[in-house]
Amino acid sequence: MIEDWHTHNKLCRHAKGKVEDYIKYAIEKGIDTIGISDHFPYEFYDELEGIPYEEYGMKVEEMSKYLSIIQKLKKKYKKKINVRSAFEIDFIPNQVNKLNRILNNVKNELDYILGSIHILFTERGPWCFDDSRFLDEFNQYEKVDDVYIDYYDSIIEMVNTQAFDCDIVSHLDLPKKFNKFPENPDTIMDKVLDVLKAVKKRDLVIEINTSGFRKEVKEQYPSIDIIKKSYELDIPILLSSDAHNPKDIAYRFDTMIKTLKNIGFTKLAHFKNRKRTFIDIE
Ligand SMILES: [Zn+2]
Ligand SMILES: [Zn+2]
Repeated sequence: MIEDWHTHNKLCRHAKGKVEDYIKYAIEKGIDTIGISDHFPYEFYDELEGIPYEEYGMKVEEMSKYLSIIQKLKKKYKKKINVRSAFEIDFIPNQVNKLNRILNNVKNELDYILGSIHILFTERGPWCFDDSRFLDEFNQYEKVDDVYIDYYDSIIEMVNTQAFDCDIVSHLDLPKKFNKFPENPDTIMDKVLDVLKAVKKRDLVIEINTSGFRKEVKEQYPSIDIIKKSYELDIPILLSSDAHNPKDIAYRFDTMIKTLKNIGFTKLAHFKNRKRTFIDIE
């Protein structure tokens, strides 16, 4: 069984291809389950000055179209592949009520939710740290470590905020995307352990996201060390490509599965109607 739980499409304005293109490609590749998890809208949030969110996610008015396309394709390809409907949602501190007002209308149509942090709220304003156009902001911090600490504090807040509904924590060590690594990795790893404990306590899943192989960092998110710690803590995982182009579906899953088996994993999480089950790693 090969399942890819994180894919985008052109509705978010920075991915290529229609939802159906991704499903067709996944069938061609012999994938058993594809999760359609495009970026949730941002337009209803306050305090996102300077963030080009029109290029980061669909509009609120497009949500029902997105979900009905997935429903139709679920039926159309039922015999060939499991299609699951989802959103990748940013945790924006102190604005979860605004999110829920919109999310609650569509929640019953979702199979799962990915929780992500792409934006840090700095003294200088909001910063999308994984957008290469704003890379300069790394230099405004005294140390790279401070970026990691701010990031992991946000992840901990996301995980501990019960009102923020999610099933899976996305790309857990995303700040390494442009090869910016902590100066004191042990200090940052202590912080990661706090994150993992919070994830375990809330019983969430961590995704093993292979999109990092396509970025400067040239490795999956999160690092092997973090994956091993997740294994020790018995935190469930699943695989995702974070494809923004149909050809990237299940990107490097073969080698990733071997790595996960070597670490000791025997199962991967699976979602349907917000219920979690497991499949065996073959
Ligand atoms: Zn994206
Ligand atoms: Zn993301």
